[in-house]
Amino acid sequence: MIHSLRSRLLIAFALVIVVAVGAVFLFMGQSMRAEVQRFQGRIEEARLGKMELELTRYYFQQKSWEGIQPFVAQWGNFYEWRIIVTDADGLAVADSEGALLGHPYEPDSPGRPITTPRTPYPIGTLYISSESSAGADFALLYILFEQIGRFLIWGCLVAVGIAVAITFFLSRRILAPVKALTSAAKRLGSGDFSQRVQVKDRGELGELASTFNSMASNLERAEQLRRNMVADVAHELRTPLSNVRGYLEAVHDGVIKPDADTIRSLDEEAMLLSRLVNDLQELGLAEAGELKLARQPESITELIKQTAAIAQAQVAAKEISVSIDLPDKLPLVNIDAPRISQVLRNLLENAVTHTFQGGVIEMTAREQDNYIEVAVSDTGEGIPAEDLPNIFERFYRVDKSRARATGGSGLGLTIAKRLVETHGGKIEAVSEIGKGSCFSFTVPIAE
Ligand code: ADP
Repeated sequence: MIHSLRSRLLIAFALVIVVAVGAVFLFMGQSMRAEVQRFQGRIEEARLGKMELELTRYYFQQKSWEGIQPFVAQWGNFYEWRIIVTDADGLAVADSEGALLGHPYEPDSPGRPITTPRTPYPIGTLYISSESSAGADFALLYILFEQIGRFLIWGCLVAVGIAVAITFFLSRRILAPVKALTSAAKRLGSGDFSQRVQVKDRGELGELASTFNSMASNLERAEQLRRNMVADVAHELRTPLSNVRGYLEAVHDGVIKPDADTIRSLDEEAMLLSRLVNDLQELGLAEAGELKLARQPESITELIKQTAAIAQAQVAAKEISVSIDLPDKLPLVNIDAPRISQVLRNLLENAVTHTFQGGVIEMTAREQDNYIEVAVSDTGEGIPAEDLPNIFERFYRVDKSRARATGGSGLGLTIAKRLVETHGGKIEAVSEIGKGSCFSFTVPIAE
């Protein structure tokens, strides 16, 4: 319960109120004390002045201090002070408590000289004891404090009440989106990837909600991809497998003979299957980001020449010419050579496959910022504009039936894209139907 946001808010509010009220109490206490003291001081001053006047008047009427004691005793009673009056020699001529009367008085603190304009020296000294006045001071303060304190406690209680009400409404507003998020997250966790939350808040909670929503859509997309992948793989495996089974059944039924031709056909289907499985494994690794690249500075020029040499036999058979156009000096690139060679091979094979007899394939490379851009262009059949955005998707083939017959798994470009991207580069294709295609990719220059 104490961990809930609502109780935390409540505790925070209550603490703030208590601290604020406490601070006010302390501050007021301090300033009130000073104020009371100043007030007390002024009253004292006024009384002393009045007493002094009375004493001077008495002295000038009587010409001596004789008989002053009853007046002083009365004043002492009245003001609740101890009042002592001494003559010019320091002998106590009056004491409101009577004890010092007729004795010399040697006080700790100086008294108030009783002066007149007519005599050059004081005619005596007036002393009052300060303890009693401090007592009064505190008594007055205590009463004030008690009253204000009661006032403050009631105020504090009312404030806490209001705080509880505010917390209640505020926490309801704050907690509504949190609750919505919690329940959506629970449903998402149990496999309902269509969960989204509607939070209008423009602050942190709104940001949390939109992060949640984008996470949910990513998960949904990943789940959809996984399902598609399984369906695609099943679909791709079905054709070669049913071909194999068809051959075997036909042999079994005696429709065809198990001769060298049949075995070659079976072998081709088996090759297709094993290529598909290998490509799938590679793609799986690349998509999971687990492809370990052994990168080192390599010459892209060498790699392009090697790839062209490997494809020589295939190219010659189709009477296609391959031209390599490279600048004299290209910086080394930071790549995993076998992987980038695989990309190049794939692009070249595709170009050969889709180029008619007598066509031309050109391989070029050029420096561009911190990358080397490699391009493989052909004068082949080209790719329809509506298919162009999809060719890097797995199992995507422009001509479904014909492409399968060429032995491609439909994964070549998907794997090439992943490999290039794992190197930090980009791959793209431009094509015009009937004129040809150009595939280009970038790889980073070695430092
Ligand atoms: P496949 O194994 O079928 O070649 P890819 O992923 O390598 O699969 O290519 C996907 C599709 O893109 C091919 O089926 C083909 O239709 C098209 N394609 C790729 N390269 C070319 C090209 N140079 N010219 C025309 N079409 C191409």
